[in-house]
Amino acid sequence: MSSAPAAAPKAARSDLRFAVIGAGMSGILTAIELKKRGLGNFTIYEKADRLGGTWRDNTYPGLSCDVPSHVYAYSFELNPEWSHRFSPGAEIQNYFEGVARKYGVDRDIRFNSEIVRAEYQGGRWQLETRDGHRDTVDFVIAATGVLHKPVHPAIEGLDSFAGPCFHSARWDHSATLDGQRVGIIGTGSTAIQIVPAIADRVAKLSLFQRTAQWVLPLPNPAYSEGEKAMYRDKPELLQQSYVHWTRRFVDTFARAVVGDQDEMAKIEQACRDNLEQNVHDPDLRERLRPNYRAACKRLIMSDTFYPAMQKPNVDLVTESIERIEPAGVRTRDGRLHALDVLVLATGFDGHNFVRPMQVVGEGGRELDQAWAQANEAYRSVAVPGFPNFFMLVGPNSPIGNFSVIMISEIQIAYILQLVDLVRSGKCDAVAPKAAATARFNADLRAAMQGTVWVSGCRSWYLDKNGNPALWPWSFERFRQEMQAPDLSEFELT
Ligand SMILES: Cc1cc2nc3c(=O)[nH]c(=O)nc-3n(C[C@H](O)[C@H](O)[C@H](O)COP(=O)(O)OP(=O)(O)OC[C@H]3O[C@@H](n4cnc5c(N)ncnc54)[C@H](O)[C@@H]3O)c2cc1C
Repeated sequence: MSSAPAAAPKAARSDLRFAVIGAGMSGILTAIELKKRGLGNFTIYEKADRLGGTWRDNTYPGLSCDVPSHVYAYSFELNPEWSHRFSPGAEIQNYFEGVARKYGVDRDIRFNSEIVRAEYQGGRWQLETRDGHRDTVDFVIAATGVLHKPVHPAIEGLDSFAGPCFHSARWDHSATLDGQRVGIIGTGSTAIQIVPAIADRVAKLSLFQRTAQWVLPLPNPAYSEGEKAMYRDKPELLQQSYVHWTRRFVDTFARAVVGDQDEMAKIEQACRDNLEQNVHDPDLRERLRPNYRAACKRLIMSDTFYPAMQKPNVDLVTESIERIEPAGVRTRDGRLHALDVLVLATGFDGHNFVRPMQVVGEGGRELDQAWAQANEAYRSVAVPGFPNFFMLVGPNSPIGNFSVIMISEIQIAYILQLVDLVRSGKCDAVAPKAAATARFNADLRAAMQGTVWVSGCRSWYLDKNGNPALWPWSFERFRQEMQAPDLSEFELT
């Protein structure tokens, strides 16, 4: 009996077209990696008029990265010129603009072009921008960001405030701070950077705290001209610094948060010592003392926050907010905190991945439907039923106190291996299997129980079901599992 003839191998594809959505760190990276592989037929769609994402939108006083600059850089474009161990936001924005220029991908960005709809039809993706421009592509890579959509607090009377009132990610630089009474609502990483940056400029600063934060006192020394010259002349030293800071994170913090009790004990002790030794007034110290475990919320890195909070013109308000009035903030004890400027350092919606863009996959199924219960992705980058659609920094990426750049680099290298299956003619489309995705997410949820994120605090890490949108295993495991796709877990059509 003769067997059926094998299907003829398909020809390699040289005509593949890509849409990269978003021109932040991840979108720029994607474009560079596509070009490096000779996949030059793409457009980067960016809804704003400038690239940079996070670093374009956030311009508040005191903004810096809170992982070392030598790690917060593309691994292939380490930068000897960083001014500080944790460099200011404007420098980071310049860095991304410079890299995009150097690799020529700035020319591939279509600005002021928000993708509002992507639909999978007849094996390709039909895209539409808000202004009606259309494109048809083989692959969509959504680099739309996580900490991107500002959250405004639902406080009565917010709109009634008489002075300038703005979210920290939409800083109003026309608002005068010098000599003014400024209020900041929120105590996350952003507020903790703003307070020391403006405390000496304002007449009075009131920090409205719902939850106290653990603070790890990391100093932020400037790099001397000599050090910069050394890194410039000897790139191998810059590489060593990258490896050094990566290892320090992988061996300490990354292990602690997913269950290494010894490492966690050291971090907790360092935070406690910081509070005990550096906040002198016992009453203030108790009000700044969190009632949950360190790193349950995103850990704050600062050696300037506690000193700033002890300045005579800085007031920590722990009474909860009753409402906002034209003249200031009224707390539940009846007190009016009179203010000229009000800053909402109230963070971002970190769970609305990819949306509000409407994404329609196979059989007309929308991403909103697929994720109605929870944002379930396959290894943070793909979703069953959405062939040739990939995400960078998607659900359960290992973010939180580490360089997201390294995460994006690992993800794009993985995604491009899947793209290669189509490019080489092995298949037309690739998507993760539903069963593999369900299994992966069940494993994720089980592993979350061992992490510090579910140890009893409210944080932006937690989704509406109380599950952290993070990676519950070691960073090494992420790197290992993302080295090459397990093709038995994918549908190749
Ligand atoms: C204040 C702040 C400080 C941070 N500090 C650090 C740090 O120290 N270390 C660290 O690792 N990470 C930090 N992060 C996280 C930071 O977001 C990432 O490091 C990184 O910048 C994310 O890049 P991205 O390209 O994935 O997303 P983003 O920078 O959010 O970029 C997404 C881009 O997509 C565009 N976009 C979105 N939707 C659409 C659409 N439908 N159509 C077209 N364009 C669209 C947006 O306009 C934006 O330009 C910080 C975040 C914030 C908010």
